[in-house]
Amino acid sequence: MHDADHSAADRDGHGLSALDGQRRPLVALAVGLIAGFCLLLAGLQGWSAWHAWQAIREDSRVATTNMARALASHAETSIKLGDAVLAEMVERIEHDGLGEAATARLTGRLRDLTHDVGELHGLFVYGPDGKWLTSSLPRPMQGNNFDREYFQFHLLHSGRATHVGVPVRSRSTGAWILPLSRRIDGPDGKFAGVALATLNLAWFGRFYESFDVGKKGTILLALDNGTLIYRRPFRDDQVGMDIRNGSIWQRIQRDGYVGSVVEAPRIDNIERLYSYRHLQGFPLFVASGQATEEIFAGWRRTTMQTAVLGAAAMILLACGGVVLVRQIRIRERLERDLRRVGVSLRRHNASLQNLADSDALTGLANRRLFEDRLVSEYERARRNGAQFALIMADVDHFKKFNDHYGHPAGDDCLRKVAGAIESGARRPGDLAARYGGEEFAVILADTDLTGANAVADTIREAVAALDLPHADNPAGRVTLSMGLYVGHPALAERDDPLAWVDVADRLLYEAKDAGRNRVVAREGHEAAV
Ligand code: GH3
Ligand code: MG
Ligand code: MG
Repeated sequence: MHDADHSAADRDGHGLSALDGQRRPLVALAVGLIAGFCLLLAGLQGWSAWHAWQAIREDSRVATTNMARALASHAETSIKLGDAVLAEMVERIEHDGLGEAATARLTGRLRDLTHDVGELHGLFVYGPDGKWLTSSLPRPMQGNNFDREYFQFHLLHSGRATHVGVPVRSRSTGAWILPLSRRIDGPDGKFAGVALATLNLAWFGRFYESFDVGKKGTILLALDNGTLIYRRPFRDDQVGMDIRNGSIWQRIQRDGYVGSVVEAPRIDNIERLYSYRHLQGFPLFVASGQATEEIFAGWRRTTMQTAVLGAAAMILLACGGVVLVRQIRIRERLERDLRRVGVSLRRHNASLQNLADSDALTGLANRRLFEDRLVSEYERARRNGAQFALIMADVDHFKKFNDHYGHPAGDDCLRKVAGAIESGARRPGDLAARYGGEEFAVILADTDLTGANAVADTIREAVAALDLPHADNPAGRVTLSMGLYVGHPALAERDDPLAWVDVADRLLYEAKDAGRNRVVAREGHEAAV
């Protein structure tokens, strides 16, 4: 291959390899990007769901806390009312006694109070033996309440404060009641009986039912000793129940009188957010609870919906990612193939170029390349003011050689002579070419007469060294005649590299005329001599 052809063939390849440095693994990049986006999306959804959950829980806590406060305040008001009525009754009995007139007046007063105050179920006075002395009932009734819990309490305790008893069914009406009682002392300070005010549990029930706590919510009122007074939804068999092993009661004992807690109580095993509060001044507490299932129903629905949407988005993205990765792979394969094709194409082009530039028989540069190079080297020498040498060489009596040894032997001879000529022109600016037939040309760039003569001699010696027999040549072996012309193209009148060929050719024929097997050299720049 002739020099300078390689670089042209590889130029594109160099441009590509510069960009190669900036390449990133596309598949990994795409997968990472999509995975990162999916993670971010999931994280974002999780985060917002968590925040929504907390906000709903807090709202619910506030709602149940407010409800507990309202319930406690309602119960306090009702019990204080009963307490005030009891205080008045005891004061009257202890001051006025229970003579006939005083009892009649008291009975009237008790009936009025019960009539006027909705919470009050009834008012009763019992003697020291438990016998009914008077009551707010429309007609006098006989009976004994010695066995009741509150009666026993006052019998045994000298305290004057109102006692809140355990809920019982009224002996007079059969309704569920909450007994409030005070001890009556005789003038001597001894136990003289009990004043009783009963609160209608149905009154509490109506109030408790008016709250919206959802289908599975609950409200309860209980005594500190663990006796359940009222629970919504109301069930007869739960009144008076012991809830000391229940989680709410235990929580209040442990954590104090006001608070909120999530519990699933043994009574129905429904998990609820409870808020509880102790009454001020009385041994009772209230609690209201909303089922967590109901609190978070809306949240659960929206979270599910956004999760489904998010999952759909991720699936879409993943599908898109798969398609993308596949396409990237296909393109990468195409690119690889294209590169391979490009490389082989460049090689092919180079060999085609080489083929187009070289002579088929000898492998030397052909006439086309010779003329190109003649022009370019001549112009370079002209620009640089350098010397430029051209040798035209011709095999002596070659026709006769062919005639004597045959054409194939002639071809072989030409190949060997070409090798000898090429061995003489080895510098980068040199070019040995087959000019046509058995005529050769050698371009010697930037070479003076001495240098060019040396090259011509080298070539002649190389041909002699081949020692190819040539019976019809006076020398007895194959010889060359050469015309050598050296000059400064910059000094030539005409800018015509072909004139250099003419001159060298003329010198060659001078060599032929002078007896062949020689070099006729001349130095000049008058191109057209
Ligand atoms: P002179 O010394 O004056 O140059 O005599 P010559 O016989 O070499 O010159 P001429 O131009 O009369 O003959 C050239 C011969 O070279 C004619 C042709 O048969 C032979 N020739 C040209 N090209 C080729 C080739 O490619 N192969 C062979 N075998 N012979 C060739
Ligand atoms: Mg010839
Ligand atoms: Mg010849």
